Amino acid sequence: MPALSTTRDIALSDRTLANLPKADLHLHLEGAMRPGTLADLASTYAEPTPQVGCYRSFGEFQHCYRAVVKLIRTRSDMRRLVREVVEDAAASGAVWIEPHFNPTTYAPALGSAEDVLDLVLDAGVAAGRSIGVGFGITLSASRNRDPRDATVLARLAADYAGRGVVAFGLTGDEAATPPEAFREAFAIARDAGLIIAPHAGELLGEPSIRSTLDILSPDRIAHGVRAVEHPALVERLANERITLDVCLASNYVLGVVKHIEEHPLPHLLESGVLCSLGSDDPLLLQNSVLAEYQTARSHLSMTDRQLAAIASTSIQSSGAPTDFIAQTLTKIEEWTKEDVPDLSDQRLHRDHEDCDTR
Ligand SMILES: [Zn+2]
Repeated sequence: MPALSTTRDIALSDRTLANLPKADLHLHLEGAMRPGTLADLASTYAEPTPQVGCYRSFGEFQHCYRAVVKLIRTRSDMRRLVREVVEDAAASGAVWIEPHFNPTTYAPALGSAEDVLDLVLDAGVAAGRSIGVGFGITLSASRNRDPRDATVLARLAADYAGRGVVAFGLTGDEAATPPEAFREAFAIARDAGLIIAPHAGELLGEPSIRSTLDILSPDRIAHGVRAVEHPALVERLANERITLDVCLASNYVLGVVKHIEEHPLPHLLESGVLCSLGSDDPLLLQNSVLAEYQTARSHLSMTDRQLAAIASTSIQSSGAPTDFIAQTLTKIEEWTKEDVPDLSDQRLHRDHEDCDTR
């Protein structure tokens, strides 16, 4: 499936979505690498550049992700990745990000898991300070590893609660290991006060989401969109105030929806389910969090008021400090009150220019 085009039918009179303050709660650190950095690293290490953008299965998607991870070989590579991810988030109008990350992937090559986590947190906070992006980390265990690794990671996450780690997640193939195996890990993370944000409900449907709710007690679910197949589950998500961290491009590229216009985001919102929009893996999906909002506007006909509500949900569901959340909500409200620019003069001017160049 090709990457999703986001350039269709964007109304000239709408507010600038890059100016809408938002949090990107669903992105993966390595999956947000810049294409140019990927090419640089591949060249430096004399490796082939992983081909991104077309996957026949989730297995191929994961294979590509692992190829990207293998190109991060020094602390300097990691520092560059983090800095660029923060800069790209700022360009999308994100004021807060909390990428999914697992430092044990890089231990001992780049230091201990604590050393790697310290490196990422220091680099993220430093990069964000000068450009107005708050930075937290979602430590994420993998369904493709031994569940005991998840328990070890949860203890690390608990140690860093209040020191940069804000959430605990679960990534990988939903079909690989059911949530039961991760019950202990998530209990540790919850007891430490972390936001619980596992992936579920993209590759599998209702049973996966229901067992995730029953066993892991999430605050948020990355994806979760296949809940739409069961009205009672949609109602439960709404009643329990679970936020779905939706990524339109991922659902399209991985074939969860055949046509983006059929995406269930509007239905979920109308049903009272809280949803944020995130970029997931901008490198692999060729998107950005800004592109997600643009797609919601252009392909799902969402209004500025609805997009502002999604942005508000994203910041309210984040691990950002309380005062930061309050300030950002005020800025989002201000965005909705901005005058919509009347671009009719510019449109006429552009038509005139077109005539000149014909
Ligand atoms: Zn994800």
